[in-house]
Amino acid sequence: GVGNTELLIRTIQEVGVTALSCTPSYPAVLERVIAEKFPGLSPRDLGLKLGLFGGEAGLDDPALRSRLKETWGLEPRNANFGVSDVFSNFAAQCEHDTRLHFIAGDVLHPELIDPDSGEPIPVSDGTTGELVLTHLVRDCQPLVRFRTGDIITVDATNQCRCGCTGFRFRVVGRSDDMIVVRGLNMFPTMVAAVVTGFKELTGDYRIVLDQPPPFDVLPVHAELAPGVEALHGLSAEIEKTFKQVLGVTVRLTLLPTGSFEVTEGKTRRVIRSYK
Ligand SMILES: [Zn+2]
Repeated sequence: GVGNTELLIRTIQEVGVTALSCTPSYPAVLERVIAEKFPGLSPRDLGLKLGLFGGEAGLDDPALRSRLKETWGLEPRNANFGVSDVFSNFAAQCEHDTRLHFIAGDVLHPELIDPDSGEPIPVSDGTTGELVLTHLVRDCQPLVRFRTGDIITVDATNQCRCGCTGFRFRVVGRSDDMIVVRGLNMFPTMVAAVVTGFKELTGDYRIVLDQPPPFDVLPVHAELAPGVEALHGLSAEIEKTFKQVLGVTVRLTLLPTGSFEVTEGKTRRVIRSYK
């Protein structure tokens, strides 16, 4: 689990731990503490073989998966998807498909809604909406149409090769992290997909909104990888990629390595500094 990062690293070393269960943003925190406090040690030296990631969106990004594999030498697994108010873990990947499988059809009734209007959206291939859950089996305090705040995209509703008949989905983000830029719905995971694709960046980023909506540009702060200089050409290249991938204009600020505060739980990606 997460907590005292330095002690955790020492424990992994001393006990010979081979699996880690945390948020997808936590390995970056470990990497920083290793670099600062454990000279000569590399993440791979810890010998972790399996990473069970949940609690935050992000692991559906292929660039993040390969970054984790390369840096840590571990097998990343999309696991531990749950909503603490409703039910603990009820979705994970299988050996055939890295997307989350909904495996609680016997106890939960899932629905999708438009997060703004509340209008229902069918749970079918390719639909995106906020996940709403109703308890089917519960002795006390059943929840009816509980809004999870998680925006998901349903990728497939047919039976998976593993035998699971529940729908398979990706978490796009939290409804309160959605930013509308010139009519387009943007989520931090979309920014992450671009940022993790650049070796010149650490992969850590924040969306810093310094004025209230409406937004016509998306202000992104990203960290440079150790030893990389903030040359103008790099900034322009990243902004161009953002425009191509997201379809919106990004105002990019490049910061030195280690600029962002280290958080041990869920990382807040959207900072509303105008509030
Ligand atoms: Zn499967």
